[in-house]
Amino acid sequence: MTLQRTLSILKPDATRRNITGKINAKIEEAGLNIIAQKRLQLSLPQAQAFYAVHAERSFFGELCQFMISGPVVVQVLEGTDAVTKYRDIMGATNPANAKEGSIRREFAESIEANSVHGSDSAENAAVEISFFFSQLEIVA
Ligand code: ADP
Ligand code: MG
Repeated sequence: MTLQRTLSILKPDATRRNITGKINAKIEEAGLNIIAQKRLQLSLPQAQAFYAVHAERSFFGELCQFMISGPVVVQVLEGTDAVTKYRDIMGATNPANAKEGSIRREFAESIEANSVHGSDSAENAAVEISFFFSQLEIVA
């Protein structure tokens, strides 16, 4: 039981369908606090830099094009075990495998357009949060 922060992105398929509020409701119902939030249009270099760990994956080019296809909402979530708690309510990467009631099961369009990003470790969360937010923008 550790108080943690994690980086969340509501992806372009979510902003396009106007369901960011529905996703935020699931986040808050899970006991996670949205302690920073802003809407951005990513540039291609920004998307490539954020997903640099996936640069060698076959879907990297498509993923970056998808992430710049419309606005995103980037967020810092805080709560007990926030990294694993958010991964749990997000559901599996492929919505076909995501558990009942999860964000991706309920909202994702495809394995690519899967509505949300969440950091996969506390270490990566710290890096990803500082990619998007300054300390002044985070109000716990
Ligand atoms: P997660 O977002 O669940 O941590 P990954 O880090 O493996 O998943 O992948 C990052 C993102 O790349 C996914 O959320 C999804 O948008 C996209 N993606 C993953 N696998 C595929 C795939 N096989 N085809 C297309 N896009 C994919
Ligand atoms: Mg990932």
